[in-house]
Amino acid sequence: MTKNGTSPDSQLMEKIVSLSKRRGFVFQSSEIYGGLNGAWDYGPMGTELLKNIKEAWWKEMTYRSDIEGIDAAILMHPRVWEASGHVENFTDPMVDCRECKARFRADQIEDSMCGNSGYKGRKASKCMAEGKFTEARKFNLMFKTFIGPVEESTNAVFLRPETAQGIFVNFLNVQSASRQKIPFGIAQIGKAFRNEINTKNFLFRTREFEQMEMQFFVKPGTDEKWFEYWREQRMQWFIGLGMQKEKLNWHRHETDKLAHYAKDAYDIEYEFPFGWGEIEGIHNRTDYDLSRHEQFSGKSLKYFDEATKEKYTPYIIETSAGASRSFMAFLVNAYSEEEAPTADGKTEIRTVLKFHPKLAPMKAAVFPLVNRDGMPEIARRIEQDLRPHIRVFYDDSGAVGRRYRRQDEIGTPFCVTIDSQTLADKTVTVRYRDSMAQERIADDRLLSYLMDKINGK
Ligand code: ATP
Repeated sequence: MTKNGTSPDSQLMEKIVSLSKRRGFVFQSSEIYGGLNGAWDYGPMGTELLKNIKEAWWKEMTYRSDIEGIDAAILMHPRVWEASGHVENFTDPMVDCRECKARFRADQIEDSMCGNSGYKGRKASKCMAEGKFTEARKFNLMFKTFIGPVEESTNAVFLRPETAQGIFVNFLNVQSASRQKIPFGIAQIGKAFRNEINTKNFLFRTREFEQMEMQFFVKPGTDEKWFEYWREQRMQWFIGLGMQKEKLNWHRHETDKLAHYAKDAYDIEYEFPFGWGEIEGIHNRTDYDLSRHEQFSGKSLKYFDEATKEKYTPYIIETSAGASRSFMAFLVNAYSEEEAPTADGKTEIRTVLKFHPKLAPMKAAVFPLVNRDGMPEIARRIEQDLRPHIRVFYDDSGAVGRRYRRQDEIGTPFCVTIDSQTLADKTVTVRYRDSMAQERIADDRLLSYLMDKINGK
């Protein structure tokens, strides 16, 4: 703890939230009205980072021959959520404090603080021990809305709390349209909504978020093999995009805590400044989903294997990642403060976001060393050459050292400087964000050079 009572980790979180706002990664939703709890807006840099994460995932999944993509509607037939078990089971236990009226998830009291501002630093568990809380009651996390002008229960629909159901109900549509054979998968990225009792920890638990889900349909009996295969693939995906191995962890759901549909379940956890938290779940869902939708819709969702003439209900291996939570994990993972030399031989602390070049929102910055001697004209031409291919930022204001720092803070991996040597031999300086090393490259090779680096060649 520091003098003002905040831990180094909560300070780190504050720094990341503040940088996110200052440099246009994430803003509070409806900020000028005081904000809306559990909702965030992605700014120019954040939108680009989120898009790059989703694109990396989408390519990883759907550029394979055995996975197809879909984009299902957020609103679905209400029976979907009865079949899926969400109407009955998608609840959290909720308690209220009779004194301060704060509301808590009964299973998260240990991590919560008392809601009364008069009792600063008091733990909610103390209030519970003093008998201030109501009995726990079930609270369904699905957001309800109404189709048409009349707010009647017969017109009620839900905003989807997960993207998975849109995949399950389209299983046979996709299979026949794309002529896939089992085993094969269906991938989807999209918004999901959960009326979480307590939102907290920035983007970690929000009421509106994005998921990246891939459901892999397999023959029963081969499910355990595929489950292991997808566990390995998913962990490697995060590592391949620069996540530090020691910050990643497997959490296996204990048998007595498995969801009603699951045969086996693991979470990939990331060590956030506030502790370990799930970023993706890999579940063996058995034939639960397709059987339930068969039962509730009265339509067969069985697969017919032409080769063996067998008919069966496939098992499903689910990989379910949060795009927004992964965004936060990639952001935390990239954040670093380190000593760096200044132009006058001193040292300063630089803040740098060490994103994998594929994820970096801005790929390169172009600087003329000085605003004369034809350097700006060459720099502008180089900027124009790069612009159709990658996101570039042109900056001609202030000392080059300052310009580097500004790019470090948003994680731009390459800074290209046009200097007097460029005028003589048509080479430019490329400066690397992480090592701060510089290299001279012929300006006509620059684009292919940067593209190779971004693509990890
Ligand atoms: P938690 O236990 O943290 O509530 P969960 O087990 O309910 O998560 P899943 O239903 O498995 O989560 O959802 C899959 C993924 O969706 C999670 O790994 C997470 O990345 C993301 N996710 C779920 N709920 C939220 C939320 N409220 N805010 C942001 N992301 C979420």
